[in-house]
Amino acid sequence: MKRRGLLLSMLLLVVAIIFIITACSNSDQKKDNSKEEETNTEEASDNNEAEENEDSNHEEEKEQVVKQVEVEYEINENSSVIPVNDADENVVLLTIDDAPDKYALEMANTLKDLDANAIFFVNGHFLNTDEQKETLKKIHEMGFEIGNHTMTHANLTKIDEQTQRQEIVSLSDLIEEVIGERPKFFRAPHGANTDYSRELVKKEKMILMNWTYGYDYFAPYQDAEKLKKAMISGEGPEVGEEYSLLKPGANLLMHDREWTNAAMADIVIGLRDKGYTMVNPRAIKTIE
Ligand SMILES: [Zn+2]
Repeated sequence: MKRRGLLLSMLLLVVAIIFIITACSNSDQKKDNSKEEETNTEEASDNNEAEENEDSNHEEEKEQVVKQVEVEYEINENSSVIPVNDADENVVLLTIDDAPDKYALEMANTLKDLDANAIFFVNGHFLNTDEQKETLKKIHEMGFEIGNHTMTHANLTKIDEQTQRQEIVSLSDLIEEVIGERPKFFRAPHGANTDYSRELVKKEKMILMNWTYGYDYFAPYQDAEKLKKAMISGEGPEVGEEYSLLKPGANLLMHDREWTNAAMADIVIGLRDKGYTMVNPRAIKTIE
């Protein structure tokens, strides 16, 4: 009996040793794998730097750069930008609607010079000619996000479901034809959605947003100086906004308009002076 007991405990010991060895080598393997991943990422970013230095036009490489932006924010139900981790909350999102009409490219250049990011929400009726399509392509290639603002700027609450679908999906098709990717963000004209459009936008894998403030479409602010003041302060007393709407995560609505174009640089500089960063739309969570 004693001997059998000894044998049994020796056997258990051997099994235990084998188990420990296997576990160790497994975790080693895991470590190796993650090391390998790290190396790959380093390699990838080295490649991208080289790519940028060469000023190459390889679309695939560009896409890799785009994908590397870490998701740090999401759009909440009030269209505000909220950090999903410990990212800086003092950000604002710049959006420019009804593009690319007369001033979008100039606005994009101004923003680019200031290294400020934005979403350009485009309308299908501004994408009729090759020249207009070329303008959109340029804005996209400058690094700006392109959003869907419907085909003809229709009020979605006043048209039937089939027409709503046409307004939304046909523009995503057209945008894809021009820039090579489908839009990931949607904003309805006048901010007016229906249950159907909300569902459809989700199915089309776009994040729906309105805005938290904007003044350039109100008559009293169709002037660069007045607009600049209103956008930087967040206050629009001449249209009843006595208190500032500027706060962390504010979603700023602007348009492809003369006075907005004229005020663009000062708005960015003024917001930065107040401690805000223009959020990179690519750091905002989208639907995969
Ligand atoms: Zn609009």
